[in-house]
Amino acid sequence: MHQPALNALVDVDPELAGLVEGEARRQHDKIRLIASENYVSTAVLEATGTVLTNKYSEGYAGRRYYEGQQFVDPIETLAVIRAKELFGVDHANVQPYSGSPANLAVYLAFLRPGDKVMGMALPMGGHLTHGWSVSATGKWFTSVRYAVTKETGRVDMDEVRDLARAERPKLIFCGGTAIPRTIDFPAFAEIAREVDAVLVADIAHIAGLIAGGAHPSPVGHAPVISTTTHKTLRGPRGAMLMSDAEHASALDKAVFPGLQGGPHNHTTAGIAVALREAATPEFSRYAHAVVANAKALAEALVDRGFDLVSGGTDNHLILMDLASKGIAGKPAAKALDRAGIELNYNTVPFDPRKPFDPSGLRLGTPAVTTRGLGVEQMPQLAAWIDQVVDAANTGQDAVIDRIAGEVAELMAGYPMPGWA
Ligand SMILES: *Cc1c(COP(=O)(O)O)cnc(C)c1O
Repeated sequence: MHQPALNALVDVDPELAGLVEGEARRQHDKIRLIASENYVSTAVLEATGTVLTNKYSEGYAGRRYYEGQQFVDPIETLAVIRAKELFGVDHANVQPYSGSPANLAVYLAFLRPGDKVMGMALPMGGHLTHGWSVSATGKWFTSVRYAVTKETGRVDMDEVRDLARAERPKLIFCGGTAIPRTIDFPAFAEIAREVDAVLVADIAHIAGLIAGGAHPSPVGHAPVISTTTHKTLRGPRGAMLMSDAEHASALDKAVFPGLQGGPHNHTTAGIAVALREAATPEFSRYAHAVVANAKALAEALVDRGFDLVSGGTDNHLILMDLASKGIAGKPAAKALDRAGIELNYNTVPFDPRKPFDPSGLRLGTPAVTTRGLGVEQMPQLAAWIDQVVDAANTGQDAVIDRIAGEVAELMAGYPMPGWA
C-alpha cells in the first residue's frame, strides 16, 4: 500500500487512487535501472504532499509580491542555505520548475537570441537544452556541438578547445544525460576562460554523487551550475541554479520575473528535506555505493559479452551498444520491462540507427542502490539482462515471465520508501 495512505483520495477519486497504487506497486516490484530515476524518502514525500501547494510566493524571501509569507520565506531560505552549504557555492536559486526551465533561465541571463552556445551533441550524450535543434535552445540560439571520440567513447578536450577557439561561443555547457565517465571540469574551465565564455556545469545526473563526494565538484571551476533535484540527489522533481556571487543577480532575475511565476513551495520544501538528507554520512555512503554498484554491473555485463560505450563507467551510468547482440535497443528494453527490469533504449555515439529506434540501452544504479542492493547482486542482474536479451531474440516468452517472477521475489526483500 502507498505510504502515506491515500484515504481521502480513495474516497474522492477511486479511479485515480487505483492508478497511484498501481504505480507504487510497480515501483516496488521492479528493478528500476533508469539512470535518471530514484526513490525519495518518506520525509520528502510528506513534504511535497502538504498545504504548501496552496500558496503563491512570487519573488524571493523578504521581497515577495503577495502577503502571508511567514512560513514560506523561512522554508525557501532553509533550502537555499542548505544548497549553499552542501555544494559550497556563493548563491543558490531553488525555484526553477525543472532542469529544462533552469537551463532556459541560464540562456535568458547571459545570451541574446541568436548568440552562440556550445554543448555536447544530444546523440553523443548531451541534453536537449544544450542547444539541440528541436529544443527552443537550438531554435532561438546558434549552437555548436562537440562529440565523443569514436575509439574511446570519451570527450577529447583538445577537440573541444579547437571548436571553442574557432566558434567563440558565449556560453559553454558541460555535462549531459548519457555520459558514463568523469567530467573534466578544470579542463572545460580553462577553455571557457580562454574564449571568454560563461561555463555552465549541468550536473543534473551527478549532483548526488558530487554531494556525496563520489564525483569531483565543478565548484571553483564553473561559475554557473545547473541541476535537477530528482536524479541522484534524491529529492522531488525540481531544479536549482547555483553560482558564484558575480552571476547571482542575473540568474535570479532570469528565473523570476524572466521566465517563471510563483515558485512551487511544496517542491521547495521537499528540496530542503532532500538537501538535509544529502548532508549526512549515510548519503555519502549511498553515493559511493551507487558508483560501486555501477562498476560491478558494468564488469558483469562485459563478462557476458556486452559492449559498453567507453568500456565501462566512472559514475552511476552505463551505456550499452547492442549491435553485437543482434537486437536493437527498443525491443530489448520492452522485453526487459516485461521481465521487471526497467531501463530505457538510448542512442549510442555514432549510432547507425534512428533516434526513435536506436542501438543502445542506458542503465543506472541510483534507484537500486537506494533500495539496498549491493555489488553482490550485480552479477545476478547482468545474468537476467543477458537471458532476457537472448529470450527476446529467440521469442522465448516463458523465460521472460519466469524472470519477472524472480525479480519481484528479489525486490520483495528490499523495502521501498512510500510503500508498506
Ligand atoms: C534531466 C536533465 C535535464 C532536464 O531536466 P528535466 O527536469 O527533465 O527538465 C537537463 N540537463 C541534464 C543534463 C539532464 O540530465
